[in-house]
Amino acid sequence: DPRNGLLAYILEPTKYHPNIVIKYNDRFVLIRDAFPKATIHLLLLPRDASKRDLHPRVALNDQEFLNEVRSEAAAAIDLAASELSRQISRYSESCKAHIAAMESEELVDELPPSRDFSKEFRVGIHAHPSMNHLHVHIISRDMHSDRLKHQKHYNSFNTDFFIPLEDFPLAENDIKRDTSYQNGNLKQEYKCWRCGKMFGNKFKQLKEHLEEEFQVWKRE
Ligand code: 5GP
Ligand code: ZN
Repeated sequence: DPRNGLLAYILEPTKYHPNIVIKYNDRFVLIRDAFPKATIHLLLLPRDASKRDLHPRVALNDQEFLNEVRSEAAAAIDLAASELSRQISRYSESCKAHIAAMESEELVDELPPSRDFSKEFRVGIHAHPSMNHLHVHIISRDMHSDRLKHQKHYNSFNTDFFIPLEDFPLAENDIKRDTSYQNGNLKQEYKCWRCGKMFGNKFKQLKEHLEEEFQVWKRE
């Protein structure tokens, strides 16, 4: 069953190239999403056999486990942020200014602040995951990827189908605790993650706009 495709990474992380399995320990495996929907898209896989088969909306309500996932996700974001910085900062104006300031003969009181790329990531789960084993998405906000090919790819990260890790634990009476609750409507009109502009059901126009936003975002 292709829905079990993440289990192999959990069971045998050493079998994979370090560019796919980025890091692992006894408790977690951090991998690169095989079909990234943004510039950086990683998956954090808990290895605990008593958790990995649970629905994420159930598993993440255990406060002790949640704390562990949070701290591991924070480490993963640091790693992802430095990779994002390497990938896009050569285009970044703030970085250029930084280099110019350092190279200039004049003494400068203050270097321009460098950008905090960890703020450009979102961490969370899909309300109805397609893959069976517990996985947490760590994804840069840009949604700039040639793998982003249809409505579900965009809306599953940009509607309430995406549940941020911060929302856990869910309140006792939160309807999202009920895993049969159909959280999030993937058929919604497209809304730009950056400026909020609406694109109806015009995927091509959304993609063109995402390209423009990417060019501005990476130079922020
Ligand atoms: P879900 O919708 O279940 O939350 O997301 C599953 C994610 O797993 C998707 O983003 C998909 O691209 C990714 N994925 C599916 N199969 C594989 C695989 O075999 N290897 C890796 N590394 N990622 C996969
Ligand atoms: Zn926009």
